Amino acid sequence: MATSTTKTGAPLDRATFESLLRRRLFYTPAFEIYGGEKGLFDYGPPGCALQNNLVDIWRKHFVLEEDMLEVDCTQITPAAVFKTSGHVDKFADWMCKDPKSGEIFRADHLVEQVLEARLKGDKEARGQTVEIDQAKDAKRKKKKVKDVQAVQLDDAVVKEYEETLAKIDNYGGEELGQLIKKFDIKSPETGVDLEPPRAFNLMFQLTIGPSASTPNGYLRPETAQGQFLNFQKLLEFNQQSMPFASASVGKSFRNEISPRSGLLRVREFLMAEIEHFVDPESGKRHPRFAQVKDTKMTLLNRNVQLEGSTKAEELTIGEAVASKLVDNETLGYFLARIQMFLLRLGVDYSKLRFRQHMANEMAHYAADCWDAELRTSLGWIECVGCADRSAYDLTVHRNKTGASLFVRETRAEPLKIEEYQVDIDKKRFGPKFKKDAKAVEQAVEALSQELREKMSLELEKEGRITLDVPAVGNGKVELEKDLVKIEKRTRVEHVREYTPNVIEPSFGIGRILYSLIEHVYWSRPEDDARGVLSFPPPVAPTKVLLVPLSGSDDLRPYLQQLTYKLRRMGISSKIDDSSASIGKRYSRNDELGTPLGITVDFQTVKDNTVTLRDRDTTSQVRASEDEICAAAKAIVDGEETWEDVAKRLPKFEGQEVD
Ligand code: AMP
Repeated sequence: MATSTTKTGAPLDRATFESLLRRRLFYTPAFEIYGGEKGLFDYGPPGCALQNNLVDIWRKHFVLEEDMLEVDCTQITPAAVFKTSGHVDKFADWMCKDPKSGEIFRADHLVEQVLEARLKGDKEARGQTVEIDQAKDAKRKKKKVKDVQAVQLDDAVVKEYEETLAKIDNYGGEELGQLIKKFDIKSPETGVDLEPPRAFNLMFQLTIGPSASTPNGYLRPETAQGQFLNFQKLLEFNQQSMPFASASVGKSFRNEISPRSGLLRVREFLMAEIEHFVDPESGKRHPRFAQVKDTKMTLLNRNVQLEGSTKAEELTIGEAVASKLVDNETLGYFLARIQMFLLRLGVDYSKLRFRQHMANEMAHYAADCWDAELRTSLGWIECVGCADRSAYDLTVHRNKTGASLFVRETRAEPLKIEEYQVDIDKKRFGPKFKKDAKAVEQAVEALSQELREKMSLELEKEGRITLDVPAVGNGKVELEKDLVKIEKRTRVEHVREYTPNVIEPSFGIGRILYSLIEHVYWSRPEDDARGVLSFPPPVAPTKVLLVPLSGSDDLRPYLQQLTYKLRRMGISSKIDDSSASIGKRYSRNDELGTPLGITVDFQTVKDNTVTLRDRDTTSQVRASEDEICAAAKAIVDGEETWEDVAKRLPKFEGQEVD
């Protein structure tokens, strides 16, 4: 298991960490009193507040700052949409069945799990520290693997295993089947040979309406399709101006083969997605790229992975786009903006990398694709995908429905096109070919430019041409020069029609939320049983803890007054007037990540001053109630830091005693 350290450098103790999340009700297994259901979780009050804050910051960072068009489309979707998009045929993972027990395994996870276990056994046998750090060690099954033994492997075998793991996302079903055979991987349950991998579609089927006798719909596995289907209306809303982006936040559903690792692989999750529509002929340049070009990022490129390594390099996004490592400016712009968003949430830069998809991992139409991965105690977790989907989606929906999912633009300079044009003499055509006239006409219109050129010469020379029209008579039709004319002419095109390409950043909010909690988690050396969650103040679920120094009735009105005041300022607060010592009350709230504490004491009664405590440093300042509330607001809004406030308000020592 990959070890993960907290910001103090101490190893993250998963048991203590998970107990904190459970005790403080960040989230909890759904339907627990009915025995629970794998892959489904409910969020408790701090989890909800945290999720709302992440989404709120996401909206400000993307929808507001980038002037995107937000839509909220339905989750219930007719089957035809996903048939056209390719999801019915392709949105699948590979699974293997144990013929003896009937247990199902996800094929790629099983290969990973077994190879990693063998590598671990090899390291143990060689007396090395056991720490496996492969691209996807998060996918390892928690279940005990039968073949973990301290067995030393040949160096060549170790190399082969490591290379296979680095490329694990690149294998299809057949290749996974071959790997299972080659590496002699058996069912971890019963030790028997597994059935060959079969594709399992991840969409939940639905029967919409009372009259349908068979399933006719799906729960959406992503929010994207609703955005594509509304493209024409959004373009019109945007006054036909390109480029533009739509955005959506909503639940998506995937019938995962083996949900696991808490919020990381679930069957229902919140997604926030952007579809940025761009003219492919613009070179996919982005007008604001210059603002982000110096952003340093950790990039793991596909060639490195294909060589069997997971070594990432730090580059500016400007360098990455200039060298074509990242396909284009728009994609690069979004990768940088994704990083800025994650850092704004409190993600640790040293635990963030962008991994490029290998060719087989990407959809065939995608031009380039990168995942923002966050390192946690469960390994590197894909939290945001960012793909250049080319013109695929709009094209397939347009072809299927005939809807105008494209852009018509008046050309600044009219385009002159030299081409062979066909004129048919309809007055003679009809009487001559009668019922076949339409088919013959279509065959003439369908002639390529190359054939038109050839036939125009033939018409001139021979006075007639012979055309293939399979639907008519013997399949050949002769046309004389009085029936048809083929001439080279100049056509002037004033309007350009094109299908935009799409750059799609796709955020899994639950994965970001979990990974973020790990990144901000630490414990004070003097109290390692209790954790501290150092969320940035704008992200924290509750902003201010209100504590009376004693249970005296004299202090109560001050607490009430503060609560109302903070509420009016839009700052969430909680009173803790329990009998626990003030130090305990503070540390309980450190576990919830509450960044500020205001203490009301007997001095407050005399001069209306209160103290303000900072969660991370535990230092305090004292000032009038108004000044403290204003300071809290500035910190919560991200306008001032604790250091700023501590410089300008008088320091306070004392009080935090048990
Ligand atoms: P994808 O469309 O597969 O690239 O997924 C987009 C994002 O959704 C990923 O980067 C994840 O953050 C999130 N995601 C995908 N599948 C799941 C899942 N089963 N559970 C939680 N989050 C998921």
